[in-house]
Amino acid sequence: MDHIDTCSLCLEECESLEHALSDCKWTKQVWMAFNIHNNSLFFQKEIINWLHVNICGSKHAFDTTWSIVFGVILDRVWWRRNEFVFRNKWTSSEGVVGSVLALTKDIIRSKECHKILSHDDYHDYSVNSGGRKPIC
Ligand SMILES: [Zn+2]
Repeated sequence: MDHIDTCSLCLEECESLEHALSDCKWTKQVWMAFNIHNNSLFFQKEIINWLHVNICGSKHAFDTTWSIVFGVILDRVWWRRNEFVFRNKWTSSEGVVGSVLALTKDIIRSKECHKILSHDDYHDYSVNSGGRKPIC
């Protein structure tokens, strides 16, 4: 294995997109915090199917909250990898999990705000209050 292809985080495996986002032992620590077990079928899908099933859901099970959590985990795992590789800054898996929870909460809260602001009553509120937006 060429050193340049080795995962910068674990230094044990060849770094591929699949490895960085799902299989690296440091990444698995984050997934396991969300009850994805190490030997789960979750890790055995081809990456395009894996992304599709978890972001778009299947015909039988679509969970909007999970698709948000899944996307935020990918974002934070990739962010941690890049912070380490390019800035030599390390974030623990607990730190990544904490930022996933905080960002997910913010996204869900902003979606709820969007629903409130999209409601017909908002138009009346906005007109009657001189155009001020409600604070969510
Ligand atoms: Zn690795």
